[in-house]
Amino acid sequence: MLSKKIILPVFMVSLFFTGLILLNAQQAVAADPNLSIGSRGNAVVEVQQALNAKGYWCGNADGIFGSKTHSAVITFQRDAGLGVDGIVGPQTQKALGLHSSSPASVPSRGTRTISLVATGYCPCAKCNYPYGGQPSYLGYPLKKGIVAVDPQVIPMGSRLYIEGYGSAIAADQGNAIKGNRIDLCFSTHQEALNWGIRTVRVTVY
Ligand SMILES: [Zn+2]
Repeated sequence: MLSKKIILPVFMVSLFFTGLILLNAQQAVAADPNLSIGSRGNAVVEVQQALNAKGYWCGNADGIFGSKTHSAVITFQRDAGLGVDGIVGPQTQKALGLHSSSPASVPSRGTRTISLVATGYCPCAKCNYPYGGQPSYLGYPLKKGIVAVDPQVIPMGSRLYIEGYGSAIAADQGNAIKGNRIDLCFSTHQEALNWGIRTVRVTVY
C-alpha cells in the first residue's frame, strides 16, 4: 500500500536530478575557453582530434593539453598564418574547423559530484562484443581505472574518483552507457561480475 505512494515522488525526484545532470553537461559543452598547456577536458579532445585529422599529430586524443599538443598547435598556427602563441583561442579553433567561442564564456573548472549507476566490465571479448581486443575510445589499453561514460554527462578525458572503485579516467564509451550510467573496467571477468550493478557517487575533476 505504501509503495505506490512512494514511487511517484521518487520518480519525480530522479527526473529532477537527471535534469540537473543534463544542465551541467550542457554548460560543460557551452564553456569554450582559450585552451593552453594544462587545459583538460572535452574541448581539448576536440582540438586534438582536429589536429590529428589535419596531420598535426599530437598523440592520442586524451583530453590533456601537454607539450605534444602545444607543439602541434604551434606548427598548425605557423602553417595557417595565424599568430603563433600555442594557445587555442577563437581564431585557431575556427581554423581547425571547430566552433568559435564567445569571449564571454568562462571555463568550467569546478569539481562536481554526481550519482551514477555503475556496472562492471573487463577486457574480455564477451564484455566488449563486437570490439574485443580493441583499446578504449581514447586509445588506452583496457584495464582497471579505465571507465566508459556518456560524453554528454562526463567529458571524455575527465579524471574521476568513484566511490568503492577508486581513481579513474573517462576514456571509453559504450552503446548502453547513456545518461546516468557508467561502466567500470576490472582486470578480470570475475571481478566485473562481483561488482554487479551499484549506484555510486562519482567526483568529476
Ligand atoms: Zn569480461
